[in-house]
Amino acid sequence: MKIFAFIQIDDGVVNRLSVETLTGAQKLAAATNGSVTAVVFGAVPDDLKTYKVKEILNVQAAELEDYSPLYYIEALSRIISSESPDTVVFGHTYQVRDWVPRLSARLKLPFLVDCIGFKTDDNFTVTRQISQGKINADMAFENPSLISFQSGAFRADEVESGTAEVRAIALDLSAVPGTIRPGEKYQQARGSVDLSHAKVIVSVGRGIGKEENIPLVKELADALSAELGCSRPVVDYGWLPHERQVGSSGQTVSPKLYLALGISGAIQHQVGMKGADTIVAINKDENAPIFEIADIGIVADLFEIVPKLTESIKAKK
Ligand SMILES: Cc1cc2nc3c(=O)[nH]c(=O)nc-3n(C[C@H](O)[C@H](O)[C@H](O)COP(=O)(O)OP(=O)(O)OC[C@H]3O[C@@H](n4cnc5c(N)ncnc54)[C@H](O)[C@@H]3O)c2cc1C
Repeated sequence: MKIFAFIQIDDGVVNRLSVETLTGAQKLAAATNGSVTAVVFGAVPDDLKTYKVKEILNVQAAELEDYSPLYYIEALSRIISSESPDTVVFGHTYQVRDWVPRLSARLKLPFLVDCIGFKTDDNFTVTRQISQGKINADMAFENPSLISFQSGAFRADEVESGTAEVRAIALDLSAVPGTIRPGEKYQQARGSVDLSHAKVIVSVGRGIGKEENIPLVKELADALSAELGCSRPVVDYGWLPHERQVGSSGQTVSPKLYLALGISGAIQHQVGMKGADTIVAINKDENAPIFEIADIGIVADLFEIVPKLTESIKAKK
């Protein structure tokens, strides 16, 4: 299969979701005896050249230096028409949600969004979660296709290293009307928290009992240099702002370590955090569903464990 992986560059750096998706593209190429071409708009960061791809297609035009949907759509339309990939894969970033549906409509290509994996058993299918993450559905479709993978679908640290030749393609986009001008980026909005890039998250659930107890977990988060996350009830009660909510109606995260404190592990929470490398759960109910996905489970009262944990981490530092 001829796979193109669109690589999003944010402030000169390869977007982490794009690296995860590149891992997926490499696995798909291995399963189908195919090849991966990385498609980059604007300057190619050096680290991208260290990943195993057949080539890096560097699409150049002054209009592509900063994100702008109409230019992006026109540029990738032309690349798809001239290069004829079987599929183009994307990380499911805010930008991709903005411009790729329009690209799909323009080219009349199916866009399979927010997928969590693929299968190549009989024919090529992608897996999507439906009904609030309760059901995994395998979807068959016809190539060429556009596919986006959600955060945590593949692991950035499993991307294969190698070398890649860069092939530059210069485009003249001057005839494209620049009638859509992007505003401030979502994660840069004042006061917003981008948990998707956090390496360590200490997340708190209803088990914390009341707002006055939040500093207990905040102290642990600070000791671990971690971001503070939470389940939905914590937001509904107004104990923490929505920007810290993890789950289907909050953020999707994939840190190295996710510490779940007093969180039952409802499916709506799991879909947002099951991509974490290591999940540690503290819950006093040994039958809590969080233990089904936890790497380390501690059946205990968080009010007993958390202060001791904070103390010992501080002592080690
Ligand atoms: C459309 C929709 C979208 C949703 N989106 C989200 C979402 O984005 N994120 C999300 O999180 N939820 C979401 N939910 C809600 C979800 O269904 C659950 O209700 C929620 O995740 C439960 O949060 P919780 O685990 O903190 O609370 P609970 O399910 O009440 O669990 C609390 C846990 O704390 C444990 N506990 C209590 N006291 C202690 C103690 N002292 N020490 C240790 N453990 C203790 C209990 O044993 C229990 O397991 C959504 C629901 C719907 C319908």
